[in-house]
Amino acid sequence: MAPWERIFAHVDMDAFYASVEIRDDPSLAGRPVVVGGSPGARGVVSAASYEARRFGIHSAMPMAEAVRRCPRLVILPGDFAKYRSVSEQLMEIFGRYSPAVEPLSLDEAFLDLSGTRRSLGPADLLGRRIKEDIRSATRLTASVGIAPVKFVAKIASDLEKPDGLVLVAPGEVEAFLRPLPIGRLWGVGPRTREALEAIGIRTIGRLAAADRKLLVGRFGRHGEHLHDLALGRDAREVVPDWEARSYSHEETFARDRADAEFLEGVLLDQAHRVSRRLRRDAVCGRTVQLKLRFSDFRTITRRETLSRPTADASVIYRTGRDLFARHWAHGAVRLIGIGVSGIVPAAAGSLDLFTDREAEERRQRLAEAIDRLDERFGRSTLLPAKVLRAREGDGPHPRRPPRGA
Ligand SMILES: [Mg+2]
Repeated sequence: MAPWERIFAHVDMDAFYASVEIRDDPSLAGRPVVVGGSPGARGVVSAASYEARRFGIHSAMPMAEAVRRCPRLVILPGDFAKYRSVSEQLMEIFGRYSPAVEPLSLDEAFLDLSGTRRSLGPADLLGRRIKEDIRSATRLTASVGIAPVKFVAKIASDLEKPDGLVLVAPGEVEAFLRPLPIGRLWGVGPRTREALEAIGIRTIGRLAAADRKLLVGRFGRHGEHLHDLALGRDAREVVPDWEARSYSHEETFARDRADAEFLEGVLLDQAHRVSRRLRRDAVCGRTVQLKLRFSDFRTITRRETLSRPTADASVIYRTGRDLFARHWAHGAVRLIGIGVSGIVPAAAGSLDLFTDREAEERRQRLAEAIDRLDERFGRSTLLPAKVLRAREGDGPHPRRPPRGA
């Protein structure tokens, strides 16, 4: 098999909004569910469960038409705050696998795995691990496509939905594309498709075999581009969306905890992990977020925006601890987590004229030295004593992120 020079993943949640609703209300399982506007107000479907799709209902369809097709359709208005918080979980998972993540929407992203693959294992295993991480964090399924060309990964993720995993190995790209209808190509809308079909081109293979001059004569530069795509050529890179990313760690306890020292110790540990990942990716964050889930499952997130971006564990911890002190009313806590968002490249964070550059650099060097020791001897050997004390007697060790994350 040809070696992987580049490796791209496209991850796409299955019927995202509808799946989140069904997850949170088991009485909806097995019923045709859509999220969208009401039929009376000329609303449209934004997401349809697979049961609803059996009636031919799909997103962007007028709701009135959807109800005509399935009178017992369950219509939900949608809860975008909830979808956004699931999206944050997804982006956090993607961040474990690659510093180059390009979100296309709340539930869909490209990952450039070219640099991280060596430390994380073979391509098919990577796809399974991403899916498994998503399932265990969100109880939702995703479909994943993996390919040596960016747009091919996107086509692949769509082929075996739901819960699909399609791997296109290097050297198999053309054969993979050949039988697919041209409508699958990124950039072929209904009008281009009709125009291509009018000259007898229905499959990507036929497009690849078509005369390039003819395509250019007919479609101009777009024809050239489409011909390249049909041949599996695409130089597009993953464009990381720094702003949309966040770095966070959270932990659910085996039993609810109400002692401040323990909870602050966990926060300190999490702040160190978040800091390490920020520094590994050479980025800083402007906003620190604390997440608490109480024993009755009520969940709050509280955030604080800093005067300048940071990757410093002690700043992240202090900000998180202050939020905790302000918003924790001594109730039993089921989950605690800390995160950093508002991500910018590290250079932008160090352009502050009022920074004591030397002190900052010393701290940075020390933090990097700790990371290296950490890697050699295991994380817990260097955890602050407060965390180690807090951890004692707290059941099994929390699950660690994948190696290299
Ligand atoms: Mg989706």
